[in-house]
Amino acid sequence: MDGLLSRALAAVLAVLAGATIGHAVGSWLEGGAIGSIVGAAVGAAVIAVVDALRGRRLLAWVRGGGVSPVPAGVGLWGEIGYRVQGQLRSRDRALDDERLRLQQFLSAIEASPNGVLLLGADEQIEWCNSVAADHFGVDPQRDRGQRLTHLMRTPAFVAHLHDGRFDQPLAFSPLGGQQTLSVLIRRYGDGMKLVLSQDVTERERHDAMRRDFVANVSHEMRTPLTVLAGFVETMASLPLTEVERRRVLTLMEQQTTRMQTLLTDLLTLATLEGSPRPPTDRWVAVTALLAQARADGEALSGERHRIVVSVPEAAEVAGSQSELLSAVGNLVTNAVRYTPDGGRIDIAWRRRADGSGEIAVSDTGVGIAREHLPRLTERFYRIDGSRSRETGGTGLGLSIVKHVVQRHGGSLDVASEPGKGSRFAIVLPAARLRAVVEASPAEAPAP
Ligand code: ADP
Repeated sequence: MDGLLSRALAAVLAVLAGATIGHAVGSWLEGGAIGSIVGAAVGAAVIAVVDALRGRRLLAWVRGGGVSPVPAGVGLWGEIGYRVQGQLRSRDRALDDERLRLQQFLSAIEASPNGVLLLGADEQIEWCNSVAADHFGVDPQRDRGQRLTHLMRTPAFVAHLHDGRFDQPLAFSPLGGQQTLSVLIRRYGDGMKLVLSQDVTERERHDAMRRDFVANVSHEMRTPLTVLAGFVETMASLPLTEVERRRVLTLMEQQTTRMQTLLTDLLTLATLEGSPRPPTDRWVAVTALLAQARADGEALSGERHRIVVSVPEAAEVAGSQSELLSAVGNLVTNAVRYTPDGGRIDIAWRRRADGSGEIAVSDTGVGIAREHLPRLTERFYRIDGSRSRETGGTGLGLSIVKHVVQRHGGSLDVASEPGKGSRFAIVLPAARLRAVVEASPAEAPAP
């Protein structure tokens, strides 16, 4: 309002000044009244031209986005420039804030372990984080605006996207990939879609393993139970002689033992998986451990094999005595079961050059073909199922060994040649070993 007043005042002054000067000049030319009118008109025109020039400068500055300094000016035009500049600055500040917030929001989505992909109304990629880019094989920058189905052509996914029923997630394996993805689609905005993806390969693998495990356990339990049921029926329905009765009872006992062994191994595995890592301050004497394993092996072998223990340098291992005995015991039991009568079994301890220690169980038995070696420690993996079962195997022995060894921070080395024999070595890290010190009551082996 002040600006407008001063502007009006300036116009009045200009007109008056023009009229005065015009009147003076007009009087000199003997036309004072006309001179006044012309002078007033010139004064008004000068003000109009000055205003037009200032207005144009300001308009040019506004059109330029207000980036350059605001044109200097006083009065009305100066105030307009100043106020427009203030508005532009606060707009820029608000924009910067919004940009920062958007950036933070996108960074948070980027940090998500899952894939997030935004699709436009025509299924074109609007934005995706790097996890989604990896899942769908797209480039977040280059492929922006591309139709997703041109880049991810797996039929199951394309059908799901077009199907429009997004209440359930879809699990599928992208063409040519080993992964399994789970994709959940949600609609938002005007025909836009939010695609959330998750790599469920590991989960699917575990599910498959669990299903296999349950199927295997059921199968292993069903066989002896079927046999037992048959015998029970025989005993109930047929008159048996004393000899027959004894034979049937012996067979029933064998099947019961088989089930008991299986359950014991299953419980051992479950305990290993569910319990904390073995202690690092309980010391187990290697000599006593191997002697016990040999005694168990001899009991099973019944003098059919020669079992030799060698401990050149006494040592102690930090860990669980019962677990270690179970691991070495399983290896010795296997050596006995897979070595023909008259064979030799060696149980040997040695320190390796790198400081780690090794308990090796070698036999002169049937050996194992190379292709089986990587799968030996899988649960229920057997090379010769009938031989394993005949000799009382459950198919879980080496899984137990692997678990125990891993829990002690070690590894299992297997070398074998069919017809010549096998060597299973439990390798334990140097950190869990120590040379034997004089036994004192405080350092007696853990129970
Ligand atoms: P099992 O109860 O069947 O012995 P394991 O897990 O202990 O189960 O062993 C898996 C398979 O590895 C066995 O079925 C057997 O074929 C093979 N195996 C294990 N130890 C030996 C060995 N010392 N000599 C030959 N084959 C072996």
